[in-house]
Parts: sequence; C-alpha cells; structure tokens
Amino acid sequence: MNAQSQLSGSEFFDVAIIGAGIVGCAVARRFALAGAKVALIEKGSDILSGASKANSAILHTGFDAPNGSLELALVQAGRQEYLDIHQDMNLPLVETSALVCAWTADEALKLEGIAEQGRQNGVDRLRLLTSAEARTVEPGLADNLVAALHVLDEHVIDPWSAPLAYVNQAIALGATVLRQCEVRAGAFDGEWRLETNQGGIRSKWVVNAAGLFGDHVDTCLGFQSEFQIKPRKGQFVVLDKAASRQLKTIILPVPNEITKGVVVCPTAFGNILVGPTAEEQDDRIRATVEHDTLEALVALGSKLVPGLAHIPVTAVYAGLRPATEKKEYRVIHRAEHNAITLGGIRSTGLSSALGLAQHALNLHGGADRGEFSSKATPKVCMPNLAESRSRDWQAENHGDIVCHCEMVTRREIEATLSSPLPPGDFGGLRRRTRAGMGCCQGFYCNAKLAEISKGCLATPLAVDQEGGK
Ligand SMILES: Cc1cc2nc3c(=O)[nH]c(=O)nc-3n(C[C@H](O)[C@H](O)[C@H](O)COP(=O)(O)OP(=O)(O)OC[C@H]3O[C@@H](n4cnc5c(N)ncnc54)[C@H](O)[C@@H]3O)c2cc1C
Repeated sequence: MNAQSQLSGSEFFDVAIIGAGIVGCAVARRFALAGAKVALIEKGSDILSGASKANSAILHTGFDAPNGSLELALVQAGRQEYLDIHQDMNLPLVETSALVCAWTADEALKLEGIAEQGRQNGVDRLRLLTSAEARTVEPGLADNLVAALHVLDEHVIDPWSAPLAYVNQAIALGATVLRQCEVRAGAFDGEWRLETNQGGIRSKWVVNAAGLFGDHVDTCLGFQSEFQIKPRKGQFVVLDKAASRQLKTIILPVPNEITKGVVVCPTAFGNILVGPTAEEQDDRIRATVEHDTLEALVALGSKLVPGLAHIPVTAVYAGLRPATEKKEYRVIHRAEHNAITLGGIRSTGLSSALGLAQHALNLHGGADRGEFSSKATPKVCMPNLAESRSRDWQAENHGDIVCHCEMVTRREIEATLSSPLPPGDFGGLRRRTRAGMGCCQGFYCNAKLAEISKGCLATPLAVDQEGGK
C-alpha cells in the first residue's frame, strides 16, 4: 500500500492535519486509531521537512518544565505513551540518564532548586551528587565539576524512526498522506474547504500542525493568528562514533531563562552531539552553520569531557525551533470553527508529540461523542537503526553493504523504497536508513544510492545539507 494519493476532490475527511512534522505525524496516528478518516498534508517532499528533521533526540521527563504547565502535562503524557509503545513498534530507547552539571559554586547552589522543581513535576528519580559521585556515573567529566543532579529517566530515542512509525500506523488504518501539497487557503462553512497546489480538500475539522509556519497557516485559514513564530536556530556538531567510548550520559548545563543550553549527548546511532545553540533569526527555512560557532561547540565538548578532544567531527547541522514571543505552547481550540492549532511547540515536541495528539483528540471530542468507530491497532515494526541493537548487516545473508560508514545494506534501502511511505527525497532516504550519514557523508555511497533510488524519489538526489546526524 502506498500512502500518496491523488486528490479526487470529492473525498471528505473527518480531519485534515496540516504539517507532517513530529506533531502532525503523531496526531494523524491518534485520530486514525480513534477511527477518523484522516488526511495528513505536507508541503515538503517528505515528512519531517521542518523543525522535526534536526533536534537533540532527547525524550524528556519534564523535570525542568514550568510546574503546572500544559507543556509539562503533554511531555509526560507523550513520554509515557512512547514508553508504552516503543517495544511493539521496535523503536529504540537508549537509557542514558542525564547529569545536570554545575561547573561553578553559583551553579551548584541552583541544583537543589532544580531538583525541587523536578520533584514537584512528579519526576522522582533524581539524585544530588558530589563531583566524585558524579564521576562514578560518568568518569569522563572534567576535574573542575563542582556538583551534579542525576536525572535517571532522561533518555535518547531515534528522532526519525519514531514519527515514521506513527505515520505508518496511520496509513495502515487508512490515512491519506499528501506530500508536496501546500495548504494555501481555507474557508469554513460548517465544513472546511482547503485550497492546495494539488486541488481542493474537504474536511470536517482541521488541525494546524505547521510548526515554523503555524502563524501563517492560521492566517491562511482566515483566523487572526494569536502568536508569531520567531525561529530560534540551534547548531550542532556530531562527533565520530569513537566518542561513544568517552560518554554514556547526557550532560546538561544548569539552564537559564532562555534555553536549556548546550548539551553533550549520545545519539541512538553511536555518535556524540554537542549543541544546540539558541540564536534568533527571521528566516524560517534556512538554518546555516557557522564555522566559529562550530569551533566553539567542539571546544566546549572537550572542555566538559576531555576525552572528546581530537575526536573527529562527522557532521554538522542546524535546526530551527518554532519558538514564539511566549515560552508556552500555543494550543488554540476554536470549537465554533472545528479547528485546533498546535503552535509554538518549541523545544520539547519530540517528547510531547504523542501527548499533544491525545490532547488534540480530547479537544475535538469526536471519540467521546461516538463519531468514529475505532479499528484494531495494526502492528507496525520499524527496522532498527540504533547502534545498541542488532542491525541488518549483522544478520546472516545480509547481501551487499551500500554505505560502509553506517553499515547500511542494499536490502534495507530497497525495503524503504518499497515501504508504505517511501522517502520523497534524499534527506528522507538518509533519515530512514542512515545511508550517507557517516563520516564520509555520502562521498563513497551517493552514486550507488542514486542508482538504487533512480525513479523512486519525488525530488531525486536533492542532498539534504542539514539532516546529517
Ligand atoms: C535544535 C533543536 C533541538 C531540539 N531538541 C529536542 C529534544 O531533544 N527533545 C525534544 O523533545 N524536542 C526537541 N526539539 C523540539 C522539536 O524538534 C520540535 O518541538 C518539533 O520538531 C516541532 O515539530 P512540529 O511538528 O510542531 O513542527 P515541524 O517539524 O516544523 O512540522 C511542521 C510541518 O508543516 C509543514 N508545513 C508548513 N506549512 C505548511 C502548509 N501551508 N501546508 C502544508 N504543510 C505545511 C512543514 O513543511 C513541516 O514539515 C528540538 C528542536 C530543535 C530545533
């Protein structure tokens, strides 16, 4: 089954979801599970074309989220649902834990307050540690560590397989996924008529999950947007897999008002990330990297974890957070217009997406009113890309290896090209298989990938400059 459908114009959906970032993918799954007829509409050539293609991949506990906030509730609900479903979907959970590290006496004074906030937020597995105790958790930390707070339940996941799993489950339940389909206008007269570059779409409800364009889409739908997106860039360096021997835990700074700060963080794929920065910009699409900033990140990584010095950089990238003029999520329910906006999902959307999806379904209320009849949950089993678990190349008879840096087999690439939602572009192929994501960044395998994927990608070989992690 292939999810990309031609629009007939006459089809009527229960809910049209605008934007296939992590949030839109989770919302599509949740409504499809409830039995709704779903259209997921994405203007990019693949899902995860916006903020969701580049993040730190931490599944947050919410220990540092504002007490009593919607964000806290949704991060915790989303995290719990991920924990409940990840094994069934074969999605990884790397139980790294995190250390909030105080490098000065002043920072050390703040740790008790952070721990108290965590406890108030219902996060119990927290331990205040001396520097010696912290070094038993993470021996690689620099000598000048003063104290640390150990947050045992912060984990790392695969940020691309998870949303793909959500959307695959929605597709198995009959959802329509339209890519390269931009919503340009919408009108409501008891039902929605959306205008797109592929024609009209009719639906009873709309969910705006347009991330970095959430305010624009609200305006397109005829609303006065209640928020303005102010993109906040985060640059990262990705260190070679040799770095993973130096660090097993997420190293967090003592946060400030603006940002959670730069983290040094293992990835599910065996690398170490250093980033992100927090830089305001106007551009909502381009996230450039700057040499001096990257140098500073490399230096910071080896200052905090000296064993990281001299480990080569495998890749660099930057992502854009859909921040707004306020810190909180901008969830707007316009019941009289059958519309929900999930806006300003700034820096915790990977963790909260499944919670946001439950919240959107509750706001909609259709499941409670018995408008839909839910179907059996279809099994979705993702191919494993995480380093800690068995990969395809380790299986017998794995056949050709196409990408030797990331050990990606030809049959993995062929399987993804014939999957229910095959990649729409080269970035999508990389995110689904890891081909071209290793230390040569595709230098040796791009030609082979182009040959294997010939005729399969809507945007052939548009090499994604920002997606390499
Ligand atoms: C640097 C960085 C680090 C982060 N680290 C973490 C982390 O460790 N843990 C965590 O939980 N979260 C993290 N996040 C946050 C997380 O990545 C975001 O909250 C999340 O990606 C937001 O997803 P979204 O679906 O709301 O938006 P997006 O991913 O931007 O999705 C919106 C989609 O809508 C599409 N679209 C826009 N306009 C239209 C239109 N008119 N028609 C059709 N489609 C449209 C876009 O193309 C896009 O694909 C981080 C973010 C950044 C940038």
